[in-house]
Amino acid sequence: MNETVQQLVPTAIALERQYVLQTYRRPDFVLVRGEGVRLFDETGRAYLDAVAGIAVNALGYGDPELVATLRVAAEGLIHVSNLYHTEPQARLAQALVECSFADRVFFCNSGTEAIEAALKFARKYARQHYGAHKTHFVAFTNSFHGRTMGALSTTATEKYRAPFEPLVPGVQFVPFNDLQAAEQVITDQVCAVLVEPIQGEGGIHLATMEFLQGLRTRCNEQGALLIFDEIQCGLGRTGTLWAHEPAGVTPDMMTLAKPLAGGLPTGAVLMTQAVADAMVPGDHGSTFAAGPLVCQVAQVVFRRVSQPEFLAEVRAKGEYLAARLDQCIRPHRLVRGVRGRGLMWGIECTVEATVVVNAAYRRDLLVCAAGTHVVRLLPPLIITRAEIDEMVDKLAATLDDVVQESAR
Ligand SMILES: *Cc1c(COP(=O)(O)O)cnc(C)c1O
Repeated sequence: MNETVQQLVPTAIALERQYVLQTYRRPDFVLVRGEGVRLFDETGRAYLDAVAGIAVNALGYGDPELVATLRVAAEGLIHVSNLYHTEPQARLAQALVECSFADRVFFCNSGTEAIEAALKFARKYARQHYGAHKTHFVAFTNSFHGRTMGALSTTATEKYRAPFEPLVPGVQFVPFNDLQAAEQVITDQVCAVLVEPIQGEGGIHLATMEFLQGLRTRCNEQGALLIFDEIQCGLGRTGTLWAHEPAGVTPDMMTLAKPLAGGLPTGAVLMTQAVADAMVPGDHGSTFAAGPLVCQVAQVVFRRVSQPEFLAEVRAKGEYLAARLDQCIRPHRLVRGVRGRGLMWGIECTVEATVVVNAAYRRDLLVCAAGTHVVRLLPPLIITRAEIDEMVDKLAATLDDVVQESAR
């Protein structure tokens, strides 16, 4: 880099390039501030955020109740460890249980940790009930469950897996939404089946109702536990509190993370009493999980996103967005398909998604990729209809820009 160019690179970017492990390819602006659905960079430029920290910032930026809660919580206990009782954790668990199929909650700090915990719980449950042979897992094509060894073993994408093999043995992948294929591999060897009701990273693929119902039935027949990974699609993102609700079936375990604590690292596994009964003190744990500060914030997020009026608004705005996408995006020559529900959408393109993501920056729009060719929209759930219009207009203009650029 010559000197004049170097002077133009903001300090944060220069330092990142020199000191941070390069596992992300980031655009050349530095974010400093947020407000509602908008992020601002160092130069004051505003971006309409249709990523929301990858489905984390459900309440957007600077939510007054969330900020006030954090302020007050910061004056109290931040961390004491899980060796001791604290009230916010107990209250958060109560809220999650009362609004779900579950009887108990295990807390951790991220999505991948929630998956690791669920895999361990399934192993122990199967061992206790059926013996040591029942250790296999079934997962699906285009699945994403995380980056640590166990979660990675159930993640389908070859590019994420191959450099790190050997992974946990005994995981079989089946085509997503292919119930017959799934039924064939869900044998008495299988301790758990892991599925995202709406696949996020893999490209926004919606499980059919029959698929989720069929998995439930087959798991019951074979004594396998059914795990729904709602880390991305859960907590109101699709207009119902849980993405599996429309299917009318419930899992034995459900993993949560992304939006749960408003941007503070948190994960959770919700489970039935039968699963909980397999675990005893000492079987699993976490130093940081569910500290008082994190749980006070999570209680606020959960109370807000679980309110029926809030969910009804997400559904209505989701329908509005669907109609706008149908009108302005689906007919575009670069678009192969549009899929989604609520405020979780994927636009499958004929060009690589990163091309669109990068072009969108120039239109002051933040979108992200899901798989190689899908552009993903995950705006904060507080987005207004006017902001949805703006998001769709900016995306349409971006697609036109990409066409223009490729013609040049
Ligand atoms: C993001 C994600 C994970 C992993 O969560 P991390 O917090 O990044 O470890 C797992 N499953 C799904 C469906 C996700 O979207």
